[in-house]
Amino acid sequence: MPTSDRGVASLFERAGESDAAEAEGAALARIGPNAVIQTGQALASRYGSGVTRLIYEAAGLARYLGNPPHAMIDEREPKALFTALRQALPAQEADHVLTDAGLRTANYIVENRIPPRARKLLPKLPPALASRLLVSAIARHAWTFAGSGHFEGRVRGWREPVVILSIKANPLATPGCPWHGAVFQGLFATLTATHVAVVHPRCQARGDDCCEWTIKAATGPQPQV
Ligand SMILES: [Zn+2]
Repeated sequence: MPTSDRGVASLFERAGESDAAEAEGAALARIGPNAVIQTGQALASRYGSGVTRLIYEAAGLARYLGNPPHAMIDEREPKALFTALRQALPAQEADHVLTDAGLRTANYIVENRIPPRARKLLPKLPPALASRLLVSAIARHAWTFAGSGHFEGRVRGWREPVVILSIKANPLATPGCPWHGAVFQGLFATLTATHVAVVHPRCQARGDDCCEWTIKAATGPQPQV
């Protein structure tokens, strides 16, 4: 790539140092706590504390009520939480909560894991370049949302860039993976300053051999909100 990818990518490195060290020393089947924390907040904001408590209890996670995890957690915990809420709620409602949780997670990552300089710079870059830098940054933090799954990301094309992300053996797959789709939607929309359409053509929870997302970045300006 003719651009200074390494130079700009180094913007991400300081914020990732402690995470990387933590991830290195952790067992493979660990995942970032936000998969549980943000799902709890999404549940509480839609249904209140009573329903949240029932679903946490069903998932065996009652100890996290009022005492959310701060460090990496066993990936079986968010998996149990996703399963419990999908069992407790109609599919459409469960997907709504998972989507909200994914957007909250993306917001957390933007605020806390992307250094301020990168946060300011990325939306000003051409989408094709911003997408590439973001995929590179996401790959370095993949354990936060992919756990023991194997994450890969690439971007095709420059004029109309298409981001392709995949997780093999995705530990948090649910049909259509609304949580992951919302995480990616939030990250790419915010940090590439473009409309993005996230499509999930292959899903492990629907019988495919992996989960794969396609994110198309429009080149037009963002709508006024
Ligand atoms: Zn999937």
